Amino acid sequence: MHGLMMHGELTITTILRHAMRWHPGSEIVSRRTDGAIHRINYADLGRRIHKLANALARLGVKPGDRVATLAWNGWRHVEAYYAVSCMGAVCHTLNPRLFADQLGYIVNHAEDTVLLFDVTFAKLVEKLAPSWPTVRHYVALADAGAPPACDLPGLLNYEDLIAGESEDFAWPDLDERTACSLCYTSGTTGNPKGVLFDHRSQVIHALSVSGGDWLCLRQRDSVLPVVPMFHACAWGLPYAGLMNGVKLVMPGHGLDGPNLCELIDAEKVTLLAGVPTVWLEMLRHLKATGGRLDSVERLMVGGAAAPRSMIQTLEEEYDVRVVHGWGMTELSPVGTLSVPKAHMQDWPAEKRYAVQGLQGRPLYGVDMRIVDADGRELPHDGTAAGALQVRGPWVAGGYYRGDNPESFTADGWFNTGDVAAIDAEGFLRLTDRTKDVIKSGGEWISSIEIENVAVSHPAVQEAACIAITHSKWGERPLLVVVPKAGAAVDKADLLAFFEGKVAKWWIPDDVAVVEELPHTATGKLYKLGLRERFRDFVLPTDAN
Ligand code: AMP
Repeated sequence: MHGLMMHGELTITTILRHAMRWHPGSEIVSRRTDGAIHRINYADLGRRIHKLANALARLGVKPGDRVATLAWNGWRHVEAYYAVSCMGAVCHTLNPRLFADQLGYIVNHAEDTVLLFDVTFAKLVEKLAPSWPTVRHYVALADAGAPPACDLPGLLNYEDLIAGESEDFAWPDLDERTACSLCYTSGTTGNPKGVLFDHRSQVIHALSVSGGDWLCLRQRDSVLPVVPMFHACAWGLPYAGLMNGVKLVMPGHGLDGPNLCELIDAEKVTLLAGVPTVWLEMLRHLKATGGRLDSVERLMVGGAAAPRSMIQTLEEEYDVRVVHGWGMTELSPVGTLSVPKAHMQDWPAEKRYAVQGLQGRPLYGVDMRIVDADGRELPHDGTAAGALQVRGPWVAGGYYRGDNPESFTADGWFNTGDVAAIDAEGFLRLTDRTKDVIKSGGEWISSIEIENVAVSHPAVQEAACIAITHSKWGERPLLVVVPKAGAAVDKADLLAFFEGKVAKWWIPDDVAVVEELPHTATGKLYKLGLRERFRDFVLPTDAN
């Protein structure tokens, strides 16, 4: 028997309509590419979204077409997100930090027809345009009459393009399974893979992440997503934010400590979201200037392991509650969050920080399991580590154009490529990427755990732990560190620092001090590159 409730397709158009009708005065505040501050309310933003949809239709954009963006977090990027998806086309966010040949590949793989780009990327677009035969129109996200100086065929100017358009657009009645956006993930090997989101997955992901334990979004919140809209949809904040009528504070390209702190103070930001490196940099700036985070209540961190020391500093010195989470582009992107359960609230601080340092427990909508090499499920005892697999309505069921089918199991799970343990409380502890795990004498050493300890040493700025071939043990860990400015790393002292913090046989065999570590386009340690660099390194423990 069917229930008697009304049916409504879960589309992004419903978020837009809700935001315009019920939160017309809520604001989006953005740092422009010229550094100035721009403000717009949802009502005006909505009108401009309608105009953009008319302009794109005039350019020939049809349902299903891919419209690419290459832009920082800002109001025009939000307009593109909504106009493109709500008209039934697919908003393809390009990551400007990818290598040029990857960007070349992605645009052709997606067959983008229009590209909207921030003027800061004009030269990059100009360089790559000849390799993108499918792109018919280039639109600079620029002020009226102020196109960037670049040589692009038929270059259009965003404000000029939408200026004469109608503020009405008849949004199509979309099936909620209609594709709305596309984002490529860049592994360390092979070509990037396209994750094709649909309206339904974005809406229910936004609903779920809005919940109390995670973003806990309230209309009165002022939210600063440092996490970029070009990577994993800024953790769904452009959707969850408008759904809840919050003030969105968009940092544009100003992601450094001074810029962020200025915005936080001026806009009374209550919630921050970003990767650990951004917060470490912000903390450095605060320490140097004696600045505070008075308005900030919560800080979301994920995308890479958040050092425990960072969680502790933010809570004890700045009174900011830290929520550490794990996710992937393939998960829209949020999978787990590390909020202690009720009976853990009164635990001693150290024990609580240890829980917060874990990657967390699944949100409603995400199911997970860990399996051994034969695909057998492993126990949730906090120790057994295996391949992490997930499933759920906002988890990718396949890659665009059927790429990498081996990532999806026959019984309906997505193989994340991460290695993890799950404890009896359901908290996930990520130990590695499958490719980065260190196998010493047949046992696994968690490089993430080693790095976590290393960065809590006062002289260490950043750390990476990689496997070095060893004649007796197969592989042993080498710790590669970047010292803090003005600090010197003493190898013996750093290795002694590990005693009592990890199992004795996990302690790295040696330390290499470098000026900087390589990163991928999404800000993660590029360990493949590091392993290449240290390929011929001989550990002092290796007699051979
Ligand atoms: P991406 O799709 O670019 O967001 O990358 C997803 C990958 O980032 C995951 O598969 C993890 O390897 C890593 N990652 C995300 N969050 C965390 C976290 N909290 N701790 C450690 N690694 C993380």
